[in-house]
Amino acid sequence: MRLHMSFAKFLKRLIRPAKLAVKQTIIRHHKSSGMVLFSDTTLRDGEQMPGATLEPEDKLRIALALEEAGIHSLDAGFPASSPAEIAAIQQMVGKVKKPVLTALCRTVRSDIDAAEEALHGNPSHKRGVSLFVGTSPLHRQYKLQKDRTEILKLITDTVGYASEKFDIVAFSPEDASRTERDYLTEVYRAAIDAGATTIGFPDTVGLCTPEKARDFIRHIQDTVPNLNKALLAVHFHNDLGLAVANTLACIDEGANVVQCTVNGIGERAGNACLEEVVMAFTLHQDQYGREHSMDTTKLYGLTRLVSELTGIRMAPNKPIGGDTIFATEAGIHQDGLLKNIDTYLPFRPEVVGAGGVKLVLGRHSGRRAVAHRLEQIGMQSTDEQVMQVLEGLKSVPKGTMIDDDVLRKLAAPTK
Ligand code: MN
Repeated sequence: MRLHMSFAKFLKRLIRPAKLAVKQTIIRHHKSSGMVLFSDTTLRDGEQMPGATLEPEDKLRIALALEEAGIHSLDAGFPASSPAEIAAIQQMVGKVKKPVLTALCRTVRSDIDAAEEALHGNPSHKRGVSLFVGTSPLHRQYKLQKDRTEILKLITDTVGYASEKFDIVAFSPEDASRTERDYLTEVYRAAIDAGATTIGFPDTVGLCTPEKARDFIRHIQDTVPNLNKALLAVHFHNDLGLAVANTLACIDEGANVVQCTVNGIGERAGNACLEEVVMAFTLHQDQYGREHSMDTTKLYGLTRLVSELTGIRMAPNKPIGGDTIFATEAGIHQDGLLKNIDTYLPFRPEVVGAGGVKLVLGRHSGRRAVAHRLEQIGMQSTDEQVMQVLEGLKSVPKGTMIDDDVLRKLAAPTK
């Protein structure tokens, strides 16, 4: 037995440097390729939004839709929070195949054990943990009652423990944007030394501006001496409505991984909105000069699915997924769109997988749109009839949807 154990140990020692070399090659490959890796936290941070509860089967449906859309990794949940959470993550194992599934852990060994249980059965290159501990003065003093040195020790211990069990280990200093810069450098250095393969910059309370976010990324790149051994990830909250802008600024500054949620759902004002970041990035790829693996034609369906399953409704004018973003009532816009669809659109609906443009009739509509709609419902219209409809539209009560029936009534000959 003793001999057996020592042989196992011997094997481990033999394999460890080889595994490390493979990990380093993958990290170097990701870094030099310039790819932006999209990570999604709809199922974890998104679900933390009050009122958003997802059943395990809902989570699986969303995870599969994210996989189809080309997501690189999925923050699947927080296993230590409950056995139900572990079961929900287990449901994804074996079914969600392409993305890396990660589980959130505090810097507590038992959290890492829970993550191991939750992700059991997934191949080692498709499962990881994401550790976090508060590092700002506020978190150190009030939440953790630990000083800088104690927290560094905790990071070294738990990241080390996690990297014995997982090949993919992310570490994030919670409330990074309110942490002293020199301390942030120490924290990242310690985490990478202990085996972290990704370090995260979370703007936990959503205070950053794009300029400051950029500056933090530069600071990390300039001062963390072993950063070549880890990917750099960012995670923004939207308390100032800047989460998407901040994420884009960090992409421009060279961040490797960006974490977002579908529809921007999440704690308080939510997270950086996945579909908005993807579209802004895609439409301005010439500016960023980097690639990603997301399929934009899946975005519209994704926004609808998440809205339906979480019960969190979108504002009608929500970019990408909202009801009115491909609909217009204004006469000048309708006339332009009928002549050439690109005149009043930043991108065509089919680019995000949405249906066509809707010309909505209302009091701001013009003659061309009315004639077009009448033709669509099979009515040959005279100029007088069109004018009659335009007049009629002005007296329709507020909020009335001008559907085909209403339109027919408005166009009916008056006695
Ligand atoms: Mn968060």
